[in-house]
Amino acid sequence: MNFLEERIVRDGVVKEGNVLKVDSFLNHQMDIGLLNEMGAEFKRRFAGKPINKILTIEASGIGIACIAAQHFNVPVVFAKKSQSINLDGEMYVAEVESFTHKCINHVIVAKKFLTPEDHVLIIDDFLANGCALQGLIQIVQSAGATVEGIGIAIEKGFQSGGRIIRNLGFQLESLAIVDGMDAASGHIEFRPQKDCGQNGEKDKTADRVIKPEDCVCRSATLD
Ligand code: 5GP
Repeated sequence: MNFLEERIVRDGVVKEGNVLKVDSFLNHQMDIGLLNEMGAEFKRRFAGKPINKILTIEASGIGIACIAAQHFNVPVVFAKKSQSINLDGEMYVAEVESFTHKCINHVIVAKKFLTPEDHVLIIDDFLANGCALQGLIQIVQSAGATVEGIGIAIEKGFQSGGRIIRNLGFQLESLAIVDGMDAASGHIEFRPQKDCGQNGEKDKTADRVIKPEDCVCRSATLD
């Protein structure tokens, strides 16, 4: 087990409804030493990529992204969530369905903070169905910028997001991939890292072609 998997086993709480609570070290109280280790690991996994900006989404991604940014020496832009907006043409907007709150958010980034010259590393805390990530990817692509990679703290590998994103050809690096968890026993099963389809490879666990209807996200970029 790696450092993050060990911490999840020690302090994570499995809730009903496929929710993993990590609010004692990641989502509410934040262990900065752990975040720093995660930042160093992202830097190692994306070594050689010409990353000049990190993009994340409020709120839980911001802390992870800021500590990681110190390892890359680049600025962080965080996408803002809003349930209603007045489009004024100065913003990139994507619609994202929230896994935790089951509502639709508009995800917004000001145009002046993302340009075609940008080479972006997207960072977030969780990957479940991939809606948040697809919204961020859509925003980067709307700006004409390049997605150099995607760094996730915890991927729930039994949900479809990881498979969809890897099969779109992105380098997706998740520091811990949960393949199963049980609220009654608290047991958490991790995917061995060497089998997780990293470094931009197609996901070897994919046993079928991804179809647009597999994606529950409003921000789907599969069409
Ligand atoms: P997705 O858009 O991939 O379906 O969900 C990603 C977002 O939902 C993450 O940014 C995270 O905030 C939230 N999320 C999804 N699953 C979990 C979970 O099991 N635990 C927690 N704490 N947040 C989750």
